[in-house]
Amino acid sequence: MSDVSQTQLNHKLTLRIIEVAFVTLLFSLIARPIIAELHPYYFWLGIFDLIITGSLYVLVRSNKWPKWHISLALISALIIMLPMLFISGGVNSQVAFFLPLYPIVGALIGGRVESLLMSLFLIVTILFATIFSHTIINVSGEYYDAHTSYLRGFWLILSIMFSAMFGQFFLNRYTELTKKLKAENLQDPLTELLNRRGLNLHFAQELEQAKEINSPFCLMLIDIDYFKKINDQYGHDVGDTCLIEVADRLNESIQVHHYLARFGGEEFIIVLPNTDLSAAEKIAEQLRHIIAKGRFSSFQIPLTITLGIATLHGERDNALKIIKRADKALYRGKEKGRNRVELES
Ligand code: GH3
Ligand code: MG
Ligand code: MG
Repeated sequence: MSDVSQTQLNHKLTLRIIEVAFVTLLFSLIARPIIAELHPYYFWLGIFDLIITGSLYVLVRSNKWPKWHISLALISALIIMLPMLFISGGVNSQVAFFLPLYPIVGALIGGRVESLLMSLFLIVTILFATIFSHTIINVSGEYYDAHTSYLRGFWLILSIMFSAMFGQFFLNRYTELTKKLKAENLQDPLTELLNRRGLNLHFAQELEQAKEINSPFCLMLIDIDYFKKINDQYGHDVGDTCLIEVADRLNESIQVHHYLARFGGEEFIIVLPNTDLSAAEKIAEQLRHIIAKGRFSSFQIPLTITLGIATLHGERDNALKIIKRADKALYRGKEKGRNRVELES
């Protein structure tokens, strides 16, 4: 997943969390006075919390999602919860049941650091609330027992630690999975070369650098000759095997700082940073020879390739234009009889 869509996902997730928090607050403000006799403080605190939650929602909705919003959302969540905790009986308060969720929310919309800081802050708060539980005001009228608060504090801290660990575990798995997906997303499943998307990443980067330091840069398009005939004569499976073997052969023959990708069908592309036209032509001739003298699949099929090369022309040139010129050269190579290298004219 790209960083952009990751950010969008975080944004959506945060909005949903704030919506749930808002509805929960509203519900508890309306429903709790029915089942318990509450101090007026409780009502005003609820209104205060609703205003904070509502403002946060508007703020998050109206903006893109800079990093500081995440911290703001998490701090606001604490501001909403902690006064509620402190005026309604400290660790004996039912509000405390929500606290172990916070490190998980921190991990979901923030990250490792946010989750750990949140856990640490909560643990210190709970220690404080436990030790001073006998002096804490209890306006909510909830059952209050100083004696059992130590035990409550202990379990609360334990469950916060547990949820912090879960948050870290979740993030590890998530990072692992996204890494795998990212790699798969950039790879062609048949040849295991970079696909077009994967190539574009390197292409754009290398092109920018070549422009910046004014170094030579070439691009090579490669197309297997008369490949349709192979499929027709031997079947698609054999065609696939040939494609894999050609890809392997090309891959073995290029240098590490060159990027080979499957451009589509039976076409390949090589990005050659720091390479001028005559060096690229030499490389192309070598590749052409390597493929022409090879035999492919168990049927020992001979194959040839045609190659078109284009080079970077100054600051105003771009990837699309370079590919177009290489494609033109390749087309000329096909017209001139195939199994040859053509440079851009
Ligand atoms: P030319 O020399 O002009 O390039 O002739 P060609 O037959 O290679 O060119 P054309 O573009 O007409 O055909 C390409 C063929 O490559 C068509 C398609 O059957 C085959 N092909 C494309 N992708 C795959 C693939 O993934 N596997 C197999 N087996 N064949 C593929
Ligand atoms: Mg083709
Ligand atoms: Mg072809």
